[in-house]
Amino acid sequence: MTKAKMMNEEMKKRYSDAVYGLAIGDALGVPYEFKARGTFRCAEMTGYGTHNQPAGTWSDDTSMAIATVESLQKNNGSVDIDDITKNFLKWFDWEDFTVDGYVFDIGNATATALRTGRSETDRYSNGNGSLMRILPLAFTDCTDDEIRAVSAITHGHDISKTACVIYVHVARRLLAGESIHDILPTLQYDEPFDRLCRLDEMTEDEIRSGGYVVETLEASLWCLAHNRDFRETVLASINLGKDTDTTGAVCGGLAGIVYGLESDFAKDCLKVLRGKEIIQKCLDAGE
Ligand SMILES: [Mg+2]
Repeated sequence: MTKAKMMNEEMKKRYSDAVYGLAIGDALGVPYEFKARGTFRCAEMTGYGTHNQPAGTWSDDTSMAIATVESLQKNNGSVDIDDITKNFLKWFDWEDFTVDGYVFDIGNATATALRTGRSETDRYSNGNGSLMRILPLAFTDCTDDEIRAVSAITHGHDISKTACVIYVHVARRLLAGESIHDILPTLQYDEPFDRLCRLDEMTEDEIRSGGYVVETLEASLWCLAHNRDFRETVLASINLGKDTDTTGAVCGGLAGIVYGLESDFAKDCLKVLRGKEIIQKCLDAGE
């Protein structure tokens, strides 16, 4: 029996909660992208703002995550780099995996990599563009080398690849029932990941939320550790400001795993979330 067929009903539900949690975080953040902390307050799904999109519209983060989901589901949970790349190109060239049939948000490194077929590997190319789409790998038993290879489709520097490995491992441990408070002190890494083990004691002032992959990883784990439910956690990640949609997506996926989407707030968000049929089609691929 294949891996995907072996995913039981409970795990399917948690996979779905993770992917929809990611999409909710993305869509909540889209109207506020680039805004400085303290200049706005996100409390619910709203529209327009930075990208002038209707409420509930998700961006590149969700598009590339569900493009990954579709490939994994089709391939019984195994990682096929060429197939994932093909899906990313369907998004980039043909604007598949989008709510309205067009791409309104894309990172520079991702655009360059998909245009040239080669990702940048210098240390200045460590935006959060691979971290934002890596969560589906937590629902496979893929190796760290495979996680690194999926990152390297667009983000080939070691910092980006390591951030993806750390994040997938944290997601797997949360899925196994470990608490974020137990996980954080065990995240013992050298610079630039040396602050992860201390996130539980850090204050919001110490947390940055720009486009650097290390900031996004720290911000999402910090929000998870310092809040108590799906609503608080995801809204906190948006309200950090700057790269709101990606911090929201990276945090929202984990919050979906930890809390599920049964709360009134999550249900309200799901009602407004657009393109649910596109997300669902990817989750159901290969069935
Ligand atoms: Mg985005």
